[in-house]
Amino acid sequence: MLLKSAISPFCLCLLFSCCPLPAQNHQSTFSWPSGKHAAVSLSFDDARASQIDVGLPLFDRYGAKVTFYVNPPNMQSRLAGWKQAAAEAYEIGNHSQTHPCSANFPWSRKNGVEDYTLDKMAAEMDKANSDTERLLGVKPSTFAYPCGQKFMGRGERTLSYVPLVAKRFLAGRGFRDEAANSPEYCDFAQLLAVDSDGLSFEEMKGAAIKARDEGAWLVFAGHEIGTASYQAQTTGAGALEQFLKYAQDPANGIWLDTVKAVATYVQAHRAGK
Ligand SMILES: [Zn+2]
Repeated sequence: MLLKSAISPFCLCLLFSCCPLPAQNHQSTFSWPSGKHAAVSLSFDDARASQIDVGLPLFDRYGAKVTFYVNPPNMQSRLAGWKQAAAEAYEIGNHSQTHPCSANFPWSRKNGVEDYTLDKMAAEMDKANSDTERLLGVKPSTFAYPCGQKFMGRGERTLSYVPLVAKRFLAGRGFRDEAANSPEYCDFAQLLAVDSDGLSFEEMKGAAIKARDEGAWLVFAGHEIGTASYQAQTTGAGALEQFLKYAQDPANGIWLDTVKAVATYVQAHRAGK
């Protein structure tokens, strides 16, 4: 009610990322690596087979390092490919063992975060870390929240599991957020990520240009990587290839690297460090 009476509709709009202030008011003074004005991380969840079958050859071709957030049981069908990805220094992150999400999703009804405890969630993360290390020889250092959900329980007994992630990982990545991350202000345990599934190259490029105008760190999150660009939960291979060319052209001032690499850099160079 306070907002309604005290702030004009125009000002209300300014409170939200859908209606940004002019770029000069948002510009960061953060020092990205020489010649770079923003960072972009591409990340893909769930250890889907198309990430190995379609994604890996594409990323290899462009020398692009990306982050794969895996659930170890899902790696079995392409285990040799996942071992290759880890050996080639792609980042392998933790996406939990059993992918718990809200019971509102029919497929998660028997594994709903509403019924989780902190101990059970901690065990999820630790089991995924140990299985990934056993299978691929690398220990994940960043995490992606399944479905982007960061809570467990219900109502007055709802708890955040962000602290569990903060304790275990360099960074925790969300999903379907609306903005890029401010290198000066972001909470590494709750990094924002925008959906890359279904985006055209122009839409991906537009998001990167906005991040560059702000001096920010844009994190994309996708699932399948496919030749049909606009299927549900598919980041189009064509759009992705065009974006790789764009992001790796030095003239565009974008640093494309993994969540781990950018988080490490930002932590080391943030003001006050
Ligand atoms: Zn997922």
